[in-house]
Amino acid sequence: PDSVRLLSSSQVITSVVNVVKELLENSLDAGATSIDVKLENFGLDRIEVRDNGHGVKAADAPVMAVRHFTSKICSHEDLEHLETYGFRGEALGSICAVAELSVTTKTEEDDISTQYTLDPTGKIVSQKPSHLGRGTSVTVLKLFKNLPVRRQYYSSTKKCKEELKKVQDLLITYAIIKPELRLSLVHNKVVVWQKTKVADNRSALLATLGPNVVANLLQCQQQQEEPQIVLDGFFPKPGADYSSTSSSTPDKTFLYVNDRPVQLKEIMKLLRQHYCAQYSDDAIRNRYPTLMLNITVSPSSVDVNVTPDKSQVLLHDKEAVLTAVEALLVSLYGFQPS
Ligand code: ADP
Ligand code: MG
Repeated sequence: PDSVRLLSSSQVITSVVNVVKELLENSLDAGATSIDVKLENFGLDRIEVRDNGHGVKAADAPVMAVRHFTSKICSHEDLEHLETYGFRGEALGSICAVAELSVTTKTEEDDISTQYTLDPTGKIVSQKPSHLGRGTSVTVLKLFKNLPVRRQYYSSTKKCKEELKKVQDLLITYAIIKPELRLSLVHNKVVVWQKTKVADNRSALLATLGPNVVANLLQCQQQQEEPQIVLDGFFPKPGADYSSTSSSTPDKTFLYVNDRPVQLKEIMKLLRQHYCAQYSDDAIRNRYPTLMLNITVSPSSVDVNVTPDKSQVLLHDKEAVLTAVEALLVSLYGFQPS
């Protein structure tokens, strides 16, 4: 059982960035408006995610890190209108199996916060009063301490720097879609990146990508009924200088479904095709547009349960979504694919 637990956990928890993603999503699900991510030794020694969300109720604490416990869905039907990032109850339980986990939390009703230390199976081994304000702080020590090969893999300086960059990119992805959120990243006590609370997506893009990029983006919105699809995004202005509105990697094409960051190959391809077709220059063919697109559909028409990290989703009305995105792109760039 111990080795089975380790194996399955090590498939859920694969890297520092993946731990940060799970903890960040838990904080967002808890309604946090302020989240601080602190790493030591690139997260291998310590990852701490602290939020001002609703906290964990004392009654839930004994089971919060037990695998498959979730406070977010009660029934199968709840899966059909999922409005939280998490729902499988796998993250905390899996982290326990590959690291040392402690959770300090305080709800509105609690007088003081409590720090819980968990064992590899997710059970509380000790608890003591502490002095945190409302919210939750999750601390992950010695990630992959019992997976030496993986720990080794992530310990080269080059790999570590790549991971830190990925953590920052991850935070940027959420910062863009959550303007009201305050977010910071600290590595070895140095502030690497931060974003304050802003009013709207445009200001969030400004805060994350900078004024030069945003000056070349155009806000576009489109809505339709039956099936209901709302497209909401910022696209490179037609004919904008491509050096400021594209990059050689896809990581500045910010794509979301119902506010969830996703990878959708077909939509990505459409975006590239239409964006690139405006330029006759061959050099642009292998570039990716800098843009943000949030596709809002009915929660019951999305299946986010396709991959463990939920980055791939199945859309019930995929063809309709593709058609809608294509129509928007044609109206923007005028290119009709043959
Ligand atoms: P899931 O997010 O799928 O429910 P997790 O393992 O990530 O599963 O978390 C288990 C449970 O622990 C959550 O359902 C929630 O009740 C609680 N929890 C975890 N992190 C937080 C947090 N930052 N604030 C409040 N509750 C939390
Ligand atoms: Mg979760």
